[in-house]
Amino acid sequence: MSIYIDVKYLNLLSNRLPIFKQKREFLWNFRCPICGDSQKKSTKARGYIHRKDNDLFYKCHNCGVGKSFSNFLKELDVRLHSEYIMERYKTGENKFSNYQEPEFKFETPKFQKIDLNIPCVKDLEDEHFCKQYVKSRNIEVTKYKYLYFAQDFKKWVESLNLDTNYDLIENDPRLVIPFFDKDYNMIAAQGRSLRGKSKLRYVTIKVKENSPKIFGMNTWDENKTTYIVEGPIDSLFVENSLAMAGADLSAYRKMFENIDVVFVYDNEKRNKEIVKKMDRIIANNQKIVIWPRHVIQKDINDMILNNVDVMNIIEHNTYQGLTAKTKLLEFKL
Ligand SMILES: [Zn+2]
Repeated sequence: MSIYIDVKYLNLLSNRLPIFKQKREFLWNFRCPICGDSQKKSTKARGYIHRKDNDLFYKCHNCGVGKSFSNFLKELDVRLHSEYIMERYKTGENKFSNYQEPEFKFETPKFQKIDLNIPCVKDLEDEHFCKQYVKSRNIEVTKYKYLYFAQDFKKWVESLNLDTNYDLIENDPRLVIPFFDKDYNMIAAQGRSLRGKSKLRYVTIKVKENSPKIFGMNTWDENKTTYIVEGPIDSLFVENSLAMAGADLSAYRKMFENIDVVFVYDNEKRNKEIVKKMDRIIANNQKIVIWPRHVIQKDINDMILNNVDVMNIIEHNTYQGLTAKTKLLEFKL
């Protein structure tokens, strides 16, 4: 169906949608008329109309409602909705109109077979030192499938034929944490040293130059609250999370524009770099976790190893705006 009919009826409806505004082409934002949006803040607007293929869709990031524009309109104004249906019908059926059947491009998802030519941790023998290491970090067995092992990390990286040359040492066994995009193409990989004495604990290599160095894209559900943590291993303990792995988030701000994002930094109040980043997140009015005083471990994995209920703490210590500012001041004490 023509998206322009959707747009026309959205505009007809717009004077009834509080603080309605167009954010960019095919993206509108207003207070959700279904849940009423925030009761405390009348300036909060978490309802979005966005384009998907040749139709408009409604999504509220407060109540989570998601529906086609047609159903959204029907819920708000039955009379206007029947006009809309008529118009869509007429335009689509009348061959004398200048309506043209849109060209649909069906892109088959590329589920590339994951073949890294190195063993997956789940397939290693229980006694294998890499599997033992993974076990020692209390990573759930169901997550072993995301982890691999390279007996000779340098050789494995060379086998990928990358443009960049990495200065790696010979015969260095590493736990390999591949980063996949949504279509399961490997975009980067991190190698965690399995030797106590290694100078470089983590090495991150870029496999695809122009892809963001973000871990967890392949399992990410952007309709749910998204937690952004620091390291890939940490992210294995946090539901629907992505790990930045040293990436500069500001480069990807567009990617997270209409997504409910919560930032989770390490619990390091003495680390000026981290506190500075936290300050910036709060200044941008984004959600952030401020670890409560009784949590003493510095990172998520350490918390897990000490039986801290990380998910529960995260959910109960997510702040934004002024409250986040106050909490950060207390945190720094
Ligand atoms: Zn809502």
